[in-house]
Amino acid sequence: MKTIAAYDFNGKKALIRVDFNVPLDEEYKITDTTRIDAAVPTIEKILGDGGAAILMSHLGRPKTGPEEKYSLKHLLGYLSEKLEREVAFAEDCVGEETEKKAAGLKPGDVLLLENLRFHDGEKKGDRDFAAGLSRLGDVYVNDAFGTAHRAHASTAVVAEFFPGDKVFGYLMAGEIEKIGRVLEKPERPFTAVLGGAKVSGKIEVIRNLLGKVDNLLIGGGMMFTFIRAMGGRTGKSLVEEDLIDVAGETMRMAEERGVQLMVPTDAVIADDFKNDAQRKTVEADDIPGGWMGLDIGPQTVRRYEKVLEDSGTILWNGPMGVFEFGNFEEGTVSIARTIAKATGGGAFSLIGGGDSVAAVNKYGLGDRISHISTGGGAMLEYIEGKQLPGVKAIED
Ligand code: AMP
Repeated sequence: MKTIAAYDFNGKKALIRVDFNVPLDEEYKITDTTRIDAAVPTIEKILGDGGAAILMSHLGRPKTGPEEKYSLKHLLGYLSEKLEREVAFAEDCVGEETEKKAAGLKPGDVLLLENLRFHDGEKKGDRDFAAGLSRLGDVYVNDAFGTAHRAHASTAVVAEFFPGDKVFGYLMAGEIEKIGRVLEKPERPFTAVLGGAKVSGKIEVIRNLLGKVDNLLIGGGMMFTFIRAMGGRTGKSLVEEDLIDVAGETMRMAEERGVQLMVPTDAVIADDFKNDAQRKTVEADDIPGGWMGLDIGPQTVRRYEKVLEDSGTILWNGPMGVFEFGNFEEGTVSIARTIAKATGGGAFSLIGGGDSVAAVNKYGLGDRISHISTGGGAMLEYIEGKQLPGVKAIED
């Protein structure tokens, strides 16, 4: 693997793709610094070698052009404090002014570029835009695993301009190594737990995982589309009508391949989508009209626990219910605890995706999980066996 560990940055200007897509409050204060903190070892290695660091990232989803609330300048204060030096800022990520700033950098200097997505060339993977970025540095470092599944200008295309000088940062290298372990020879049985709101975003993942896992446990809003495919009654639960047939077909595929695909047998239902709604536990395929399922039930939890406790490898993405509502978090908490316990018993556990990671941290279980990925979509695509553009661009 081409990682920064073996690269000497002395006298070089490193153009680093980081993932600084952090949450900001109304006063533009960072509410969770995890992503910035995670990039620090990479930046420090470069500075320690006697190099300069040029940091580039996206932040939020700007529509067209610059937007104050998505400016990376809001990160300057924290970043300077964290790196214990004044970090300079370039008000545009490309262009003459920025090139001048980059050219003037001395060893130990750090320059933060403005939001890459203020240019639509970033998401389009535009070659000219990537060329503009490439003029800023002598070596390209990718340390943004969360966007590695996107073929954007700064995550993939720019690497072409550094044929002999492109490497993975520590964060990326760690992700590739840990996830690679699950990809190549997972300890069996291999169990995937998939939840979250919708089937639509995950049906392809589910199908691709059928070729890899022994057990697939379904939870979250997506369970109801499966329950309908089995002919159940789901009241006003979240159901994607147009995917009922696809869900049914997926269940048949699982059976053919000998994969145990489990769907909840009971659910905690509510008469409204709010925390203090009336609630009761019923059979998951017999939800009365006017009620909606917001969590998996205790019987399902017990069935899933049995499978998880016997697993050698566990992959988890997506909450089991609307865990943001304290009254409907039990399923998600229980599954998180069970995964932590199974990990203590020797299983290798891998969790990715904003909500599942938030859940694990909320319940204080983060340090009892083998690997918490900084990527949700990227992690799943990697495990599915797809080539990630951000990884491929460095390896080629
Ligand atoms: P996703 O982004 O697809 O992983 O979905 C995460 C969201 O799914 C969370 O915000 C949960 O509140 C939501 N969710 C989980 N279970 C349900 C459910 N039964 N009904 C509606 N939303 C759900």
